[in-house]
Amino acid sequence: MAEVLVLVETAPDGSGVRKTTLEALTAARVLGEPSAVVLGAPGTAAGVKDALAEYGAAKVLVGESDDIDAYLVAPKAEVLAQLVADRSPAAVVIPSTPEGKEIAGRLAIKTGSGFLTDVTEIAADGTATQVAFAGATIVHAKVTTGTPIYTLRGNSVAPEAAPAAAEEETVTVSVSDAAKQTRVVDRVVEQKSDRPDLTEASIVVSGGRGVASAENFSIIEGLADSLGAAVGASRAAVDSGFYPHSFQVGQTGKTVSPQLYIAVGISGAIQHRAGMQTSKSIVAVNKDPEAPIFELADFGVVGDLNTVVPAATEQITAR
Ligand code: FAD
Repeated sequence: MAEVLVLVETAPDGSGVRKTTLEALTAARVLGEPSAVVLGAPGTAAGVKDALAEYGAAKVLVGESDDIDAYLVAPKAEVLAQLVADRSPAAVVIPSTPEGKEIAGRLAIKTGSGFLTDVTEIAADGTATQVAFAGATIVHAKVTTGTPIYTLRGNSVAPEAAPAAAEEETVTVSVSDAAKQTRVVDRVVEQKSDRPDLTEASIVVSGGRGVASAENFSIIEGLADSLGAAVGASRAAVDSGFYPHSFQVGQTGKTVSPQLYIAVGISGAIQHRAGMQTSKSIVAVNKDPEAPIFELADFGVVGDLNTVVPAATEQITAR
């Protein structure tokens, strides 16, 4: 069976394989036999092998070196390009995170291959589905040059276990001077919160300008906590200083695709939709019945968020 390389992403806090990787392994299985590629500082692969085996990695290719850790993404792209040259895989699948997309772009240049970014589905014949123009168009595209490279949008494929051997192979890592031009001087790991990661959460509750203040975001957090959800925010809420930028959802923020997205005090501008409209179910709370978000919502509540959201939180918590 053809080999498909899957780049592994591990959590920065050392808590193991990120869900985006399990999704990528699941999607890759339609194209062939996944080989999980673990690239990082010495010790990165320890503790991730079991999860990779459970989700279908026939092989685990381990390239560990201080150089990979010390210089942003260039060394990873270089090692992956060498693997593509040595192994001629049928495809490469990479989680569609900011780092993943940068690595994929560099890999495409190095290998002279076509690449499809932010895909939501991959078919057995290699055809990928993409959502374009802020969701107005669904594109089916296929790479015609080189080794197809895909970045898979988070939460678009449900991870499915399929136990495999996960035979470990060591990859020789030699990083060129060209890949050592930007050195990492410090890493700040975001404080671990009890809430799920925004891009991986199955429920997201987002607040917009209608929330009106940073203090009032506690209403959004209260509903999120009653549901075990992540908190998101619109750009207007972020620009107004109500919530940190790392929680912004939209074209210039994070892309989410949860089972349930609750938009509170958000009008539904196209740039916001771009980051959340592939959510499976959308609920909107807005006091303006004409707000564009209602065109997109599966369920809408017209009302003041200061009344509706605490009442909903109370009902959910009481269950
Ligand atoms: P508003 O549009 O002001 O809407 C607030 C809503 O709250 C209104 O519908 C109002 O009826 C409702 N409301 C007010 N008070 C209450 C209440 N008490 N109870 C219930 N409802 C209430 N935006 C993003 O979100 N993400 C992006 O990534 C992003 N990227 C952008 C990139 C570019 C290049 C540009 C030009 C814009 C971008 N924007 C982005 C901004 C976007 O165009 C909108 O300005 C923004 O999404 C509006 O945020 P909002 O819905 O919170 O605010």
